[in-house]
Amino acid sequence: MKIENFPKDIQPFIIPKLKGELFYQCLGCDATYPIDKLLYVCPKCGQVLLIHNRKFDELKKVSGKTWQQIFDYRRMLNIPALKGIYRYHEFIGPNIPLDSIIYLGEGHTPIVEANNRLQSKVGVKFYYKNDGQNPSASFKDRGMASALSYIKYLIDSKLVSNIIAICASTGDTSASAALYASYLTPDIKSAVLLPYKKVTPQQLSQPLGSGAMVFEIPGVFDDCMKIVEKLSEEYPVALLNSKNAWRILGQESYSYEISQDFEYELKNIVVVVPIGNAGNISAVMNGFLKFYEAGIIDSLPKIIGVQSEHADPVFQYYLEPNSEKRVFKPVTVKPSVAQAAMIGNPVSMPRVIAIANSYNKISGRQNVFFTQVTEQEIMDWSLEANRNGHIACTQGGESLAGLVKAVKQKIVTDQDIAIVDATAHAIKFSGFQDQYFQKTIDKDYEIEPNQSLINTPLLVMPDDPNKIPAQGKPLSSNDFKIFAKDISCKIAAELDLIKNS
Ligand SMILES: *Cc1c(COP(=O)(O)O)cnc(C)c1O
Ligand SMILES: [Zn+2]
Repeated sequence: MKIENFPKDIQPFIIPKLKGELFYQCLGCDATYPIDKLLYVCPKCGQVLLIHNRKFDELKKVSGKTWQQIFDYRRMLNIPALKGIYRYHEFIGPNIPLDSIIYLGEGHTPIVEANNRLQSKVGVKFYYKNDGQNPSASFKDRGMASALSYIKYLIDSKLVSNIIAICASTGDTSASAALYASYLTPDIKSAVLLPYKKVTPQQLSQPLGSGAMVFEIPGVFDDCMKIVEKLSEEYPVALLNSKNAWRILGQESYSYEISQDFEYELKNIVVVVPIGNAGNISAVMNGFLKFYEAGIIDSLPKIIGVQSEHADPVFQYYLEPNSEKRVFKPVTVKPSVAQAAMIGNPVSMPRVIAIANSYNKISGRQNVFFTQVTEQEIMDWSLEANRNGHIACTQGGESLAGLVKAVKQKIVTDQDIAIVDATAHAIKFSGFQDQYFQKTIDKDYEIEPNQSLINTPLLVMPDDPNKIPAQGKPLSSNDFKIFAKDISCKIAAELDLIKNS
């Protein structure tokens, strides 16, 4: 729809005017830095950063109701820069001009209600929000659209040139980084570091297809992360891991979309996310906090972070109820089918601690919870979800398993409505499904395939195995008739079909 057809009072707000004064703030020593440079950690103390808007209070001069209308009308626009995460421009990157924004179709992912059968199994009303329906098939595109739009803005402003973008990845960050960087060819070249044999073939094919330099490194993600950190300290490269605070800003859009899709009424809403490097849960909490502070929503959803018992440092940290006594200890990860979250030393841990603390404080009660699930539960719930019309990856299965656990622990009650994050598309992780179905899953995963969830193809052969059609060698018409009759009888028998009378 065209702007002139919107109500007169909302028209002046539709195209965002550049406002805001963003700055980096260190979570360790509170030092602040201007955003005219790419910074990942505090130059003084080495801690991670968050980006804040010095003029955030000016956003409160517009009423919450008006913001709701702005976003709702923007949803009808056909301006590419405002179709994705930058629909919430003022809350994500208020200093990024529209013509520096990269839109590859990210964001506005569907919220799909589970059918009655699955809801009654889980014990609570719930929806999946399918972030696998992003362009590179994971939520990472939200953060990458933000980080690369910022870099494009620096390029357009002639502040930087010839960027080499690098990241370490459990698979999806590299797929996303390579995709967005390839759109900015030749201004940006990308290089990705992957733990050797620890990403799925689909995830490996993605950055290769986008033309990135792909380096496979022996070890696990945490080892790759150390290497890119070293590279980013010693060489002029743009780091695209979620250590980069611009990624967090973009990922906050997940919460803005939930707010908008529920008409900004979030009472009794519970949001369940899997935790790996902990960037996503930080962003999800931060997004709700910002909308709450600006009066756009009037309650903060309950947040549930889920970890596998094979990679659970965040869960372990919060096991200690007394916040004074908590100490963070990295864990050594074991193989996990939620491989994209298989991280023992999350980079965003200081962000989680700081943001969860204010989230609980502002909620006036404990409103952030952490649960732990087994590999068996992760795999079984992801298969169960997909047998009921979903496209959940194993991390999406992890989220659902976490919801089931939270229901059992009465953290979630039947008054609640849960939004479960399916962080990537099922087909990226279909290798785990194959191994489960073929019962070849390595024992270190500690998963026993459950016969009722196994599905394998059935090869149907005719009685005469010499009379089968082959490439370039069709059967004679009579032989094909016999073949078709024979095969259809066998299929009908398998399906218990009774012939039309
Ligand atoms: C990256 C990723 C995660 C973990 O997100 P963090 O921000 O690292 O906690 C979960 N699921 C998928 C599919 C991912 O790609
Ligand atoms: Zn610092």
